[in-house]
Amino acid sequence: MIPSETRVARRTENRRIYFFEVRFSVFGLVLSCNVQLRKMSPEPLSKRITVCRGDITLLDVDAIVNAANESLLGGGGVDGAIHRAAGPRLLAECRGLGGCPTGEARITAGYRLSARHVIHTVGPIWQGGDQGESDLLRCCYRNTLELASEHNLKTVAFPCISTGAYRFPKSLACTTAVRVVAEWLLSSGLPNIVVFCCYDADDFAWYRKKVGDIIS
Ligand code: ADP
Repeated sequence: MIPSETRVARRTENRRIYFFEVRFSVFGLVLSCNVQLRKMSPEPLSKRITVCRGDITLLDVDAIVNAANESLLGGGGVDGAIHRAAGPRLLAECRGLGGCPTGEARITAGYRLSARHVIHTVGPIWQGGDQGESDLLRCCYRNTLELASEHNLKTVAFPCISTGAYRFPKSLACTTAVRVVAEWLLSSGLPNIVVFCCYDADDFAWYRKKVGDIIS
């Protein structure tokens, strides 16, 4: 008998999220039912979204997010920087994950990083905009936030996913990221704080503007 897991309902009501998990056996028998009640953060968005400029590998947060590729075996850009800073045990754990499809996310330990965890997500390669790139980028942010919440992580820092080697237009990526994160925070208490960590001046300017617009 191989148990499967089905998420049957996720519902926002005022300031609470009801989260139901029901496990079935292969015969359809209910083995367990787990209902969690998550309280919303009382803090406003302006206290829960931060923009900084610099190297994400230096941040002391519960999780930094890696803009990985589907192999999860390291690469250039922020991916390379994270693997160099975390050390070889990160690559060893990633090998055991067996890759990650575009838009999804996987979590590992942070090893030599100050961050306790790394959440690896695979952004879309920009192909002109008519290949579902925006939807996939939204999925990256949403799936990462969901994983962070499931692991009870309070502080999470994102790089500007897909805006380097994957060539996603910076302004559109920024608008997408800020919207998804703000929507998530308005309906969930975890993570409590999200940091947008920008490496270059253009991204920093875009994020300061868009975050300012959304929290004002
Ligand atoms: P992708 O393949 O998803 O485009 P890249 O790593 O090439 O990933 O670029 C994603 C973003 O990460 C870019 O905006 C790049 O400037 C930024 N970046 C590169 N190195 C770092 C770093 N050490 N800390 C934070 N951001 C970084």
